[in-house]
Amino acid sequence: MRTDEALRQLRRQGGRVTPQRRALVELLASATRPLTAPELHARLIQQFPEVAQDTVYRILESLVAIDAVEVFHDPSQGADRYEWSDRPHHHCVCLGCGSVVCLPECPVDAAAESMQLPAGFQVVRHEYQVFGYCDGCRSNRSAKPPARRRKGKRGQLAASQTDGKGVEDQE
Ligand SMILES: [Zn+2]
Ligand SMILES: [Zn+2]
Ligand SMILES: [Zn+2]
Repeated sequence: MRTDEALRQLRRQGGRVTPQRRALVELLASATRPLTAPELHARLIQQFPEVAQDTVYRILESLVAIDAVEVFHDPSQGADRYEWSDRPHHHCVCLGCGSVVCLPECPVDAAAESMQLPAGFQVVRHEYQVFGYCDGCRSNRSAKPPARRRKGKRGQLAASQTDGKGVEDQE
């Protein structure tokens, strides 16, 4: 949705188009990745030092309600992320640094036929996210000395496998 169309819809619903609202719309539309409300608030107060985070949440809700903005929960940050919705798409989230990358393809739509949904079920929306460690975080993690050595007491073997590093630890 274009930003002027979104502002027009907000106005039609009786919402005032304040300079803060317009600025937030422009921030969202020009962002290159999905942002959390605190991140958006931090950017907005550079232009409007008096704007409260509650106001940011309220504007975001009204933009989600008219489908101008997509929201998805990012458990790595314990926060929702907001993104201007030119098209629905999915994300790859780094559990180390919280970086988010937009994915170009939707594998869910392609898999819809083999999903075996209940008879008569009408799909409205779906969620899909990929979690892991980005290249930078991966090299940081492997550069760290291992927390436990596998040599020595055999009883530590099981513990070192449960933290997901079993393969890397093999010598
Ligand atoms: Zn990372
Ligand atoms: Zn995205
Ligand atoms: Zn999808």
